[in-house]
Amino acid sequence: MTLTMDETKPQSTAGIPLVTVRHVSKRFANGTLAVRDVDLELGAGQFISLLGPSGCGKSTLLRMIAGLGAPTSGTISWPGEQGADQGTAGHGGRDLGFVFQDPTLMPWANALANVMLPLKLKGVPRAEAEARAAEMLALVGLKGFEKSYPRELSGGMKMRVSIARALVMRPKILLMDEPFAALDEITRHRLNDDLLELWWRERFTAVFVTHSVFESVYLSQRIVVMAARPGRVMADLSVEADYPRDELFRTSGEYAH
Ligand code: ADP
Ligand code: MG
Repeated sequence: MTLTMDETKPQSTAGIPLVTVRHVSKRFANGTLAVRDVDLELGAGQFISLLGPSGCGKSTLLRMIAGLGAPTSGTISWPGEQGADQGTAGHGGRDLGFVFQDPTLMPWANALANVMLPLKLKGVPRAEAEARAAEMLALVGLKGFEKSYPRELSGGMKMRVSIARALVMRPKILLMDEPFAALDEITRHRLNDDLLELWWRERFTAVFVTHSVFESVYLSQRIVVMAARPGRVMADLSVEADYPRDELFRTSGEYAH
């Protein structure tokens, strides 16, 4: 069943998926069929990985979910969002944050100013924006680095700033496209742990694109596997509930769940 906008009731969104992808295909102008007839429902609060080899269409699908590029056929809807702009380019109207592999920070602005940008664009008063951005930087482990410029930060720290910027508007959903793929193993491992902890605390829906099987199992509750045969979803798996987060947060009563 496809919900139409008239049927959605924002007052009672329980059970309604956050994002519904129906028969979505994408063919680029050069003829490449990047995504082929994908059906997906993204449930609120889940940590979902989108796993598959390079070139299988993960980025194309994620970008369409974000409203960056329209499907050639099929629909992507946000059933819980009344009046959401369906299918237009850009994700301005949608309640989401996007993290790319390249953090793309403004080099002339310090960490705090980079994180403040989305708040500034929404017209949030400066003092409040500063406070909210500082709080977000602290949440990603960058307390004390507010005044640092991107050139003074390591790759992992820049990624943390990028995550803080994506979350500062407190979006319902955080889309991440191979965010840690360019980082060294140790940094990547730390960021994985800290991202999980952040998700555990903040309860946004996470969609994490990766080509690493280990990373997807480590992070997520659900793994959507895309095939080398371009653009298809070949499996939709759930990861055993008590792995790995019970182990990860075993020592912290704060995260008892
Ligand atoms: P992944 O993120 O899984 O590596 P992509 O979604 O980037 O895969 O790409 C899927 C397929 O679509 C690939 O064959 C890629 O070359 C092609 N593709 C991606 N973007 C474009 C584009 N803008 N124009 C033409 N082909 C593209
Ligand atoms: Mg990609």
